[in-house]
Amino acid sequence: MKLDLTNYPVTDNHCHPFPAGREAKEFERNFCIGLYPVPSEDMRNTLYYHMMLGELKRLYGMETDTPDSEVIRYRNQFIREDRSGYMQKLWKDAGYRKFLVDFGYPIGQKHDRSKYLRPEEIQGMYEDCEGVEIHSINRVEWVANELMEEGTPFSEFTDLLIQRTKKMVEREHLTALKSVIAYYTGLEVKILPEARVKAGYERFLTDPTDGEAEKIVRDYTFLVGCQICHELDIPLQIHTGLGDSPDCNLIKGNPFLLYDAMNLPEIRETKLMLIHGAYPYLEELGMILNHYENVYADISSFCPYASIAAEDKLLKLFELAPLNKVCFGTDGAGIPEHSWFGAVYMKKALGWALDSLVDRGYISLSFAEQSAENILYRNVDRIYKLGKV
Ligand SMILES: [Zn+2]
Repeated sequence: MKLDLTNYPVTDNHCHPFPAGREAKEFERNFCIGLYPVPSEDMRNTLYYHMMLGELKRLYGMETDTPDSEVIRYRNQFIREDRSGYMQKLWKDAGYRKFLVDFGYPIGQKHDRSKYLRPEEIQGMYEDCEGVEIHSINRVEWVANELMEEGTPFSEFTDLLIQRTKKMVEREHLTALKSVIAYYTGLEVKILPEARVKAGYERFLTDPTDGEAEKIVRDYTFLVGCQICHELDIPLQIHTGLGDSPDCNLIKGNPFLLYDAMNLPEIRETKLMLIHGAYPYLEELGMILNHYENVYADISSFCPYASIAAEDKLLKLFELAPLNKVCFGTDGAGIPEHSWFGAVYMKKALGWALDSLVDRGYISLSFAEQSAENILYRNVDRIYKLGKV
């Protein structure tokens, strides 16, 4: 391998906190991003689980034939007795410099405040990541939900949504906003005349089970979210592709569904960061990045959850995507090892993918090196204006 990315710095474009008390008790149960309970035995039979355990043995200096139960026992004891030392070991091994953290828990269609991160859990994320810069992200839908819970009339909704979201950006020092419209009603955002939006909004407030009315409200909120990001000159992270079943209707996560919204003149001037590589719609995503100057992407979630897909899927994305618009990310949540493993493994997979292109003479080694740096951390710095590493 000509390209060894092991010691390159890395920035995670999209991850979540992993508060100690919220970890699934059985380690392997942290390996499914779906919300239905799944058998532990199934999780122990995923490739991702085995790949992670293999890397943990390397990290802990264990023999490759160490039983899984011993690895997990050692891990649980280490994190319990010296949480900060354990975190430092992970971040140093992966070469982390920055995390862009979506603090907008919970995911899901219900606005369930009991699942919100408590202030001490948010603070805990900073303590766990000492030495790594944290940049925060939060969701426009949470502001819209709050306004609707308060019964805000439509005549005041738009102004209040803009005001409160901007206040949230200021108060929480947000680097970007996020939209999870894919979780609610899907990415096929429609642009409607105001009278129809008003009627839909009022119907949804009266009957929250009215799916058609909800779609009108969610689409409108998304468009206002884009407007806010445009005004503040910050990116809007948009969930695309794979998500948590059953909350996410996976068929509605194809980024091509954003066609109408993406072609609005004002949105063409808004930075849109399509996250999760839109997995499995990688080719579609690459095409969009190629055609729309304002659209960027990260590879979070399919890296690392889709295990061996990484190298192959990166090349699918690279078919059309300009490599100065693709960012590394993990969507790590629940346990810190997802973000750690995502970086360790992606450096290998990205190295293999770029190497294969150098070997065939398609690109030079220097373009491969430069692109690896761009994808691992430089693109994020430029797109979000985060400054130099
Ligand atoms: Zn996420």
